Amino acid sequence: MKNLDVDVLIIGSGPAGYTAAIYASRAGLSTLLYKGDQPGGQLTITSDVENYPGYPNGIMGPEMMIDFEKQAERFGTIIKNGMIKSVDFSTKNLICFSDDGETINAKSIIISTGASAKWLNIDSEQRLNGKGVSACAVCDGFFFKNQDVAVVGGGDTAAEEALYLSKLVNKVYLVIRRDVMRASVIMQNRIKKNDKIEIHWNSEIDEILGENSVEGINMFNNKTKDIKKIKLKGVFVAIGHNPNTEIFKDYLKMDDKGYIVTEPDSTKTNVSGVFATGDAQDKIYRQAVTAAGSGCMGALDAERYISNN
Ligand code: NDP
Repeated sequence: MKNLDVDVLIIGSGPAGYTAAIYASRAGLSTLLYKGDQPGGQLTITSDVENYPGYPNGIMGPEMMIDFEKQAERFGTIIKNGMIKSVDFSTKNLICFSDDGETINAKSIIISTGASAKWLNIDSEQRLNGKGVSACAVCDGFFFKNQDVAVVGGGDTAAEEALYLSKLVNKVYLVIRRDVMRASVIMQNRIKKNDKIEIHWNSEIDEILGENSVEGINMFNNKTKDIKKIKLKGVFVAIGHNPNTEIFKDYLKMDDKGYIVTEPDSTKTNVSGVFATGDAQDKIYRQAVTAAGSGCMGALDAERYISNN
């Protein structure tokens, strides 16, 4: 067991975490960042990022996160692989425990733990996860070259996954549970223009078929109650995310979905010295650029807190 004392501990390594790290370490604060179980965050499982300002030709998500990390390192952030497993915010002395046996005493903590993909929670989905069921087209799309696949969801993530897959596979069945898409208009237009994508409105997957690999789906129409069996090889679930905030639930105020509540125009939580940034507290915008912006706010709030306490 080792004890570490730092000014700022940042938990998470997406755009929010690394931006907080750049600002905090550049301000001369000793800054430690734990990467968590998905180093680089959700952008490492995306393809082209076209809407982050400063990249006129777009950039691949994983590449962008390597740049973020290098920039944080340049200003002296200590970056560790590993997870913060539990926290103790019961006294003014904020304590975090890592999975590599370190106890970290921090003057201030910036939470940037992001969010993780949601699943349909049907038995066949769990059984066939990794055997044709995936939540990441960029990671797994390659395995379905020239095959038929389904994408579930009607948001921007589902639209992105469907468009990405359409470049590789034979056909994409886009399974949407309502008669409208939640995705932005530009993405909806791209989907509707794409010959390889077949939209199924008011549709839900009842069962994913197959023993050791995906062989098809039973899809039902929630208006007509018709059930359709479709033969295909892959199912990509893209129905949103849950915030990764479980370890803080005994101490921090959260909403009913687990998003950390912060004060208006601030990253302050209900615990002094603890600040929440990015998707762990933002259920509305959830963009790389807004996460980076809130990471910056978190570092400025932490800096102010440390100099006043
Ligand atoms: P969203 O919450 O926006 O969309 C989730 C979609 O999944 C909705 O169509 C929803 O249906 C559907 N859904 C939810 N639960 C189920 C279920 N159990 N069964 C079937 N369908 C379900 O999540 P996204 O991940 O798509 O996007 C999150 C945020 O990230 C958004 O703000 C989005 O704009 C942003 N984003 C932006 C991108 C970009 O700009 N390039 C790329 C990706 C995401 P319903 O509408 O009925 O609730």
